[in-house]
Amino acid sequence: NASATANIGVVGLAVMGSNLARNLASREGNTVAVYNRTYARTEELITEHPEAGFVASESIDDFVASLTKPRTAIIMVQAGKGTDAVIEQLVERFEPGDIIVDGGNANFHDTIEREKRIAPTGIHFVGTGISGGEEGALKGPSIMPGGSEESYETLGPILESIAAVAEGEPCVTHVGTDGAGHFVKMIHNGIEYADMQLIAEAYDLLRTVGGLEPAAIADVFTEWNKGYLESYLIEITAEVLRQVDAETGKPFVDIVLDQAGSKGTGVWTVQNALDLGVPVGGIAEAVFARAVSSKPAQREAVQKVVTSRPDVQKVDSSFADDVSKALYASKVVAYAQGFDAIIAGAEKYGWNINKDKIAKIWRGGCIIRAQFLNRIADAYDENPDIATLLEAPYFADAVAEGEAAWRRVVSTAALSGVPIPGFGAALSYYDSLAVPRLPAALVQGQRDFFGAHTYKRVDKEGTFHTLWSGDR
Ligand code: NAP
Repeated sequence: NASATANIGVVGLAVMGSNLARNLASREGNTVAVYNRTYARTEELITEHPEAGFVASESIDDFVASLTKPRTAIIMVQAGKGTDAVIEQLVERFEPGDIIVDGGNANFHDTIEREKRIAPTGIHFVGTGISGGEEGALKGPSIMPGGSEESYETLGPILESIAAVAEGEPCVTHVGTDGAGHFVKMIHNGIEYADMQLIAEAYDLLRTVGGLEPAAIADVFTEWNKGYLESYLIEITAEVLRQVDAETGKPFVDIVLDQAGSKGTGVWTVQNALDLGVPVGGIAEAVFARAVSSKPAQREAVQKVVTSRPDVQKVDSSFADDVSKALYASKVVAYAQGFDAIIAGAEKYGWNINKDKIAKIWRGGCIIRAQFLNRIADAYDENPDIATLLEAPYFADAVAEGEAAWRRVVSTAALSGVPIPGFGAALSYYDSLAVPRLPAALVQGQRDFFGAHTYKRVDKEGTFHTLWSGDR
């Protein structure tokens, strides 16, 4: 029987769990207990990494017995049923004050339910978003824990020890209670979808309109990565574009089937934004763009009936610079929409979320990491109550500076027949906020006409209905 020596345990030793366990073990002061349903996986991990000094158990009972109190275990198993199975096993064996952390990609609604179910036992349940993939788990992820304040006192220092570090600060903060961490992780992923789509559109424009080959676009992106667009996603995009397929000698991007997949967090972001009534068009278009790409039958059907495509517009050497500005402005919109969703979620679910801290913990470890997030942190630090990031002086100036280029790029794309759902939706969203009057007035008129939905007037208080000539 194991004696209690480990201050932290990890359940689920597939790639994410193994790497997180190794990360934990590499930090001073941690002794890490490990357990996996199938023991062979545990054996493999402890054999390959004797330096980690893991306390391994074949049974869940021994695993629980190997943890010092308050027992703290991080679950890294398949989201959904796997997570519930492990939670049940731990809840049966843990005591009040012990902490169960779900580090998988759970739906935040599930996390809220699980917390509610577990709370009466006195055991803390902490749904925690962990971003950064395999490498992040091993070297330092961005960590978004929810759960109680009290649990964070024990958990905080452990998570801080393994998180990525950005400008001297660990990329972890107590996001809010119950599902707040998984909610914010979900929004992170939604923003990630938008950012990736916008970068892909920039590539398409540089190639189709700008006439550049993938390797040359890689060089453009490498240059962009030295300026205001600096980000992990721009950096890896350059690498992907520079890659040559060993088998054919063609650019790697040309041998990949152009149908993008997804695992669901982007869809969740949009579904929840719809429920919350938050316009996240930039994110939604990115999710839809993947869906459109994955409809080969529809694409082929239209390609068959389309007899001619527009001529590609002529552009000069300033085009790449225009595209970089359009990309930046569209990106600002996508992030503004993501933060709007966080604000709405916090309000609906009663979370006290510190927006500048969220921007800060995304500066390292996660997929959307970038210097840019410092500007968002500054904006919310200066005034946490701004109505949109687009009104913060830094972003207002940046968008104004790039606005003409943004419009040129969107119109050039439209005239050239290059699909730009991300750039286009972002610009329309910006214009919708920027114009003094929207045609929503006409929509209200239509609604009143056919459904007596009533309307409000610009010149006096009250609710009105017009007796339309069609009314009887
Ligand atoms: P995974 O393939 O999602 O899941 C495999 C693990 O789950 C194995 O350890 C498996 O145990 C265990 N498992 C499945 N059903 C179980 C059950 N009913 N009872 C006990 N254990 C069960 O593993 P992963 O790719 O390492 O991901 C782990 C979690 O991290 C997931 O929630 C995933 O969504 C999330 N994730 C996050 C990121 C990120 O960047 N944040 C990236 C990838 C994954 P056996 O060995 O016994 O089958």
